[in-house]
Amino acid sequence: MNGWREWRDAVPSTYGVLGDPIHHSLSPKMHTALYEHLGLEFTYHAIRVPLEEFEQAIDHLTKLGLRGVNVTVPLKEAAFSWAQKHAKLETSAKLINTLDLVNRRATNTDIAALLKMLREFSAKKRILVLGAGGTASSLLKPLLEAGYQVSLWNRTLERAVSAIGDLPVPIAAQPIAETFEIVLNTTSASLSGEAPPVDWSGATCDAFDVSYAASGFTPFLAQAQAAGLRVADGRGMLVEQGALAFEWWTGKNAERSVMMKAIQCP
Ligand code: NDP
Repeated sequence: MNGWREWRDAVPSTYGVLGDPIHHSLSPKMHTALYEHLGLEFTYHAIRVPLEEFEQAIDHLTKLGLRGVNVTVPLKEAAFSWAQKHAKLETSAKLINTLDLVNRRATNTDIAALLKMLREFSAKKRILVLGAGGTASSLLKPLLEAGYQVSLWNRTLERAVSAIGDLPVPIAAQPIAETFEIVLNTTSASLSGEAPPVDWSGATCDAFDVSYAASGFTPFLAQAQAAGLRVADGRGMLVEQGALAFEWWTGKNAERSVMMKAIQCP
């Protein structure tokens, strides 16, 4: 199967990734490359699942024989509710990106992956997080625990307030890069070809986007690069979270370099 399918049209596979939209996902490429490298006769497909059809879709895909799935926007909370057993998570947010359909178990490999890639990209610690959705709200506490000095900006103020809860994280009224050492974009703006409205004037920070664009830079990273800054996109995170999911499902070691090679820009 090439590309992606609606869940009702899905064909049998071993694993897959569910989301809405899902056409942009590079996960099938990197998992397929890993299976070939390890000589496994597994398959991995991208499947569109609207949020309101999540339970129905999961039942259908389980009957079709899928052993596990990764889940992405906007299904992570629904995945948490569906699971009966949850691995110990770094975060209190009820969000899941990996399900074992056979045993109805769940885990989240995103946060460990993001922290690792952020640490490898930059040693700096004064960070502005953009966005207050699932990724940001899961990340704030682990960032503080890892010694980062964190501020948060979100388009919708109420959501920023709710993401912070009682954590010592100030809200930035405007996303002005100049006073920070790292600007971390966790918004989903690039899914609609947009960038959050960052003021890059005078900035000397590093810029990290959890999103990626199949054929190059996300709009956020294109702006940061034009401002002369060091940039990294979410491919490293994608590989790491996928590798951790594969290891959790199978107990085998994932070869990260093979996965990364499969999703490098043409
Ligand atoms: P959510 O839907 O939970 O949150 C989306 C956030 O983006 C909200 O804060 C929303 O703001 C903001 N936003 C959306 N559009 C815009 C815009 N045009 N301008 C400014 N802000 C905007 O998403 P998640 O946190 O779950 O995921 C965020 C992104 O991270 C997704 O693109 C996802 O694909 C990516 N991701 C990548 C991973 C990887 O492995 N590389 C792993 C996990 C996620 P508001 O509250 O105002 O609506």
